[in-house]
Amino acid sequence: MVQSSVLGFPRIGVLRDLKKANEAYWGGKLSQAELLAEGKRLRLAHWKIQKDAGVDIIPSNDFAHYDHVLDHIQLFNAVPERYTSQKLDPIDEYFAMGRGHQKGGVDVPALEMVKWFDSNYHYVKPTLQDNQTFSLAKDPKPVREFLEAKEAGIVTRPVLVGPVSFLALGKADRGSSVNPITLLDKLVPVYVELLKALKAAGAESVQIDEPVLVFDLAPEIKNAFKPAYEAISALGSAGPEVVVATYFGDIVHNFDILPAFANVKGIHVDLVRNPEQLEPVLKQLGPTQILSAGVVDGRNIWKNNFAKSIELLQTAVKTLGADRVIVATSSSLLHTPHTLASEKKLPAEVYEWFSFAVEKVKEVAILAKAVVDPESVKAELEANAATVKARSESARTNDPKVKERQASVTPEMHNRKSPFDARYSQQKTHLKLPLFPTTTIGSFPQTQEIRVQRNKFTKGEISAEAYDDFIKKEIDLAISIQDELDLDVYVHGEPERNDMVQYFGERLTGYVFTTHAWVQSYGSRCVRPPIIVGDISRPAPMTVKESKYAASVSKKPMKGMLTGPVTCLRWSFPRNDVHQSVQCQQLALALRDEVIDLEKNGIFVIQVDEPALREGLPLRKGSERDAYLQWAVDSFKLATAGVEDSTQIHSHFCYSEFQDFFHAIAALDADVLSIENSKSDAKLLKVFIDESYPRHIGPGVYDIHSPRVPAEEEFKQRIQEMLQFLRPDQLWINPDCGLKTRQWDEVKGALTHMVNAAKYFREQY
Ligand code: GLN
Ligand code: ZN
Repeated sequence: MVQSSVLGFPRIGVLRDLKKANEAYWGGKLSQAELLAEGKRLRLAHWKIQKDAGVDIIPSNDFAHYDHVLDHIQLFNAVPERYTSQKLDPIDEYFAMGRGHQKGGVDVPALEMVKWFDSNYHYVKPTLQDNQTFSLAKDPKPVREFLEAKEAGIVTRPVLVGPVSFLALGKADRGSSVNPITLLDKLVPVYVELLKALKAAGAESVQIDEPVLVFDLAPEIKNAFKPAYEAISALGSAGPEVVVATYFGDIVHNFDILPAFANVKGIHVDLVRNPEQLEPVLKQLGPTQILSAGVVDGRNIWKNNFAKSIELLQTAVKTLGADRVIVATSSSLLHTPHTLASEKKLPAEVYEWFSFAVEKVKEVAILAKAVVDPESVKAELEANAATVKARSESARTNDPKVKERQASVTPEMHNRKSPFDARYSQQKTHLKLPLFPTTTIGSFPQTQEIRVQRNKFTKGEISAEAYDDFIKKEIDLAISIQDELDLDVYVHGEPERNDMVQYFGERLTGYVFTTHAWVQSYGSRCVRPPIIVGDISRPAPMTVKESKYAASVSKKPMKGMLTGPVTCLRWSFPRNDVHQSVQCQQLALALRDEVIDLEKNGIFVIQVDEPALREGLPLRKGSERDAYLQWAVDSFKLATAGVEDSTQIHSHFCYSEFQDFFHAIAALDADVLSIENSKSDAKLLKVFIDESYPRHIGPGVYDIHSPRVPAEEEFKQRIQEMLQFLRPDQLWINPDCGLKTRQWDEVKGALTHMVNAAKYFREQY
């Protein structure tokens, strides 16, 4: 028979229960015992969902109170001394690493947290020392949770992050210079000990995740797999069977590593992302090895296309036989919302198209039956085929007008009328900006009052006119403050925006929104991305009313503010039936119309934010990455190039590591870039001189994530440093990012100092 398996289940619960429990615990409103009990309740509930759905192989140790990589840091006693020396309870030490700890005389910052592959989940980086040692924690979590499930009558397959990935995803602590992978021989014995303990507890098999296998790997990382997995396989029947899991890419380019896994039970591959790797992978498997075929998407919200999955599974079964094939989710379901059942407001038609974690688990179980005995799940297969067909034929997914418009896009539409120099000379006379112009990134404080009014409006408690009046007053306030501050390019402050993507999605066709579809971003932070379901178009202007009003009451140039096409795409759940480049171009065309409308209405500085441009970069160098950069850059240019030379296009990025990305940024041809730079070394700006970057740049001069108001002198120093790398006529003066999370008094204080510093330099030149 073909078995079904799930690689991991979301942790947060139906109603963000885990977030609420963690935050209540941090706020002193929940005891430690209550917090741990809530964790246990969630684990049991999630195991039961999978068991009831008929899943054969159910994961354990996929739960984490904060992050699963952080769990492993504690599991291997690899906690830096600055935390252990605080002698906190294990759970408090754990949270201290995840989010910092500032209580009872203890003050330690968090460990570094970064994006998990190309997802929007963030993991805590293993942070290792020159004299690093590892040992197995007392009462190891994977064993404890395996026994907890067993006691509830569910035999699970524990999930571990593999030794090579754990080290390869880690880094040397500050003050250390260790190359993490050189610690392998110290770490592997701890895995061996853990695997023995799991076997002794009754675990017959484990899933060991080695997702780094989808990267281009340095030889030292490649070479680490052999010793690690030989030691693990040498356990034989003293340890559980091992399935090595990879996801978010293909492993074909790393086939030379596969001999390292000659003696493990099986390999899991992601066949949603890379179905074409199936045939080559089948050829690589040993005579008794099994294939775990990831056919149910762990990264998206779409109902599985059973016919397509069954085709892949049958290919595997034909080669290996049913007993050597496992049907699985492509990755952990961590990246999907909990259950579709919570969504009461979706259009009925669209509701049928989705599958969240609870529903995907059922799909896995159905598919396992369908490959060997389709008759037993005939009704399910028919229903699935009917929805797949309905979706592909729906008027929502296909808008001929959008397709026509896309077909009429010409290469010229991606280019401004003139090169930068010619544009700039017109902008200079038109906008009359001083040297070192000052501006902000868009948003001003989203006060409690703004949230209250928006809520009332959403609930229908106040009229559209009353809400509009309120927004106008907020804009008036933002403008009078900018008058006082004497900034050079104004913004309206974005008081009307709930979120930088959702706001636009709500004004475009092709989007739908959920009420409960939260996914974990990091720790207790969850996001609820809008969903792109169909062809995108703009029925009416989206931001003109607010920008036009703001311009009418201000005496300086008003900057219009839009979220770029790539960011709108990346921070939504995209469609899986058309290529992302197509969706991005549709967004670009909608934004192009908006940009032109802003210009028609007297807005001659327009900023198109693309903070997500970099995170979309494919994981491996080469053709896929080049193709992404091509369409991502083209989309930005298509959105922005429709204006006159005298109109100035700005773009904004929340990072400054442009070294390997510089050419893409330069290719955007934006007149002005603002980038986050206050916490980075100004040396990162060197690339702009080295590459003779001609256009203008505003590297953030202060950190907006902190309530701190830097002194004028600090601003001057920062600007002085920047002037080592940028020409005076090239430099704009602005904060790192939008100011929506700050208080007004902090904003006024910091911007007063910022403007004074700019004026000081203006006098020097
Ligand atoms: N214009 C947006 C703002 O100021 C930019 C936000 C962002 O870069 N994440 O809020
Ligand atoms: Zn930003």
